[in-house]
Amino acid sequence: MSNAGTDCIFCKIAQGRAPADKVYEDEHVVAFWDAHPARPIHILIVPREHIRTLNDIPSDNHILAHIGQVAVKIAQQFGVAESGYRFFVNVNRGGGQVVFHLHAHVIAKKEETPGS
Ligand code: 5GP
Ligand code: ZN
Repeated sequence: MSNAGTDCIFCKIAQGRAPADKVYEDEHVVAFWDAHPARPIHILIVPREHIRTLNDIPSDNHILAHIGQVAVKIAQQFGVAESGYRFFVNVNRGGGQVVFHLHAHVIAKKEETPGS
């Protein structure tokens, strides 16, 4: 099953063809609020490139390191970098992956201070 390009919801969001409440973007990734937040802060970080799962990242591709750096920026933006947050990737059905375009979750219980 391939859902790259036109049918993939996260490709659509990354390309501005579907709406999302974006909190960060650069040439490699876009980050936006999860449509169904599991906690008061629930942000998804998505590569612009369609990569199906964590397993499918080419060995010479450093997108996951960049996603980690963006997660830190977002945690700082929401004031939870010091108090703490969760950063994780679900992989395949057994790992809870529902959307088959690589994405990382940044989840925190509450905003500590306004972002700066
Ligand atoms: P997964 O279980 O694949 O790791 O996480 C997929 C996440 O994407 C879920 O938390 C779900 O709420 C979120 N999601 C699915 N479709 C959309 C959408 O169209 N827009 C946004 N903002 N989030 C979505
Ligand atoms: Zn995609």
